[in-house]
Amino acid sequence: MTWILKIPKPFSGGLILSYKCTNVCRHCLYASSPKWRGDWISIGDAERILSQLAEIMREIYPRGFNDVGVNVGLHFTGGEPFLNFNLLLGLVKSADRLGIPSIFVETNCFWCVDDSVTEERFLTLKDAGLRSVLLSVNPFVVEQIPFVRVERAIRIGEKVFGGRIMVYNPIFYDQFRRLGVEGTLPFKEYMARMKRVDPVSLRHGLSFYSILPMARAAYMLGYLYRKYPARHFFNLSCINDLTRNWHIHIDNYCNYIPGYCAGISLGDARDIDGICQGIDLDDHPVIGMLVSDGGIGKLYDFAVKEFGYRELEEGYISKCHLCVDIRRWIVQQTDEFRELKPVEFYLHLEESVEGSSTS
Ligand code: SF4
Repeated sequence: MTWILKIPKPFSGGLILSYKCTNVCRHCLYASSPKWRGDWISIGDAERILSQLAEIMREIYPRGFNDVGVNVGLHFTGGEPFLNFNLLLGLVKSADRLGIPSIFVETNCFWCVDDSVTEERFLTLKDAGLRSVLLSVNPFVVEQIPFVRVERAIRIGEKVFGGRIMVYNPIFYDQFRRLGVEGTLPFKEYMARMKRVDPVSLRHGLSFYSILPMARAAYMLGYLYRKYPARHFFNLSCINDLTRNWHIHIDNYCNYIPGYCAGISLGDARDIDGICQGIDLDDHPVIGMLVSDGGIGKLYDFAVKEFGYRELEEGYISKCHLCVDIRRWIVQQTDEFRELKPVEFYLHLEESVEGSSTS
């Protein structure tokens, strides 16, 4: 019997313009870095996807809705979208023309080198229909981007967007202000200074509340967290994660990514309707195992039996760590699973500013 997984229509989500980034952040969910090939979404694909999202969101949101928030409407993201400003601008215009609500863009502020450039770009995007910006503030961005640029983006962003900007995450913003940081700050130094100044705030910032224990963070920050053997996570099904309708992502290869589960594709987002009618789990066996009652344990057994997967001696910080490690192992040996895409994601997991794992 065919087993179909129903996927609800997306309530909110992000379009990844490219995985290419100026930075290689230790916690990046999408394993972005400057080393990616640098493919960008084509205008044709993006417009096809945006048209469908517009139709879906017209059914969901009341006419005129334009509140901003991390989990409403559409956002443009990456990688770093400001590396291709003309593409970003064109897509903001398209999304606005299509009536998509609550459009915002995420950035690490690398480009905010002076007030006039920052204001001009924000104003240009606002005139094109952008409602807000999400400015990334965390110890991994600030070890590569001078904090003054982030502060500039916040100050000018507030002026241009009338206080509708999102600072993510405010706890880190407060920490850097209190530390008096202006330039960049290596992560080790951040840790040492925060341990002296405010260990409670340090722990709070690095908790699972603000750093998701998955993807690159599992490898590059794993040494900060308690680890468990694989069996600790068996029997955890991912049905809710893989079928959630909020904050989904679509990448520049048109992969429809459920939630934060980078490296997993529910299908080709040029046909969102087709995906939402349900995906055939016989054709997507890895997803089938993850949503089954056996959950990660089933995927683990399969990977051990079919591909000789070896459990990490040091253990795992989360179910998502175990999941991504198994998936990475599998894609290194076969390309038979169409849901494990893009493959390049798995190649960039263990990268850092220093270039190697510290886990
Ligand atoms: S375990 Fe895998 S499928 Fe489940 S939420 Fe984590 S990354 Fe997604």
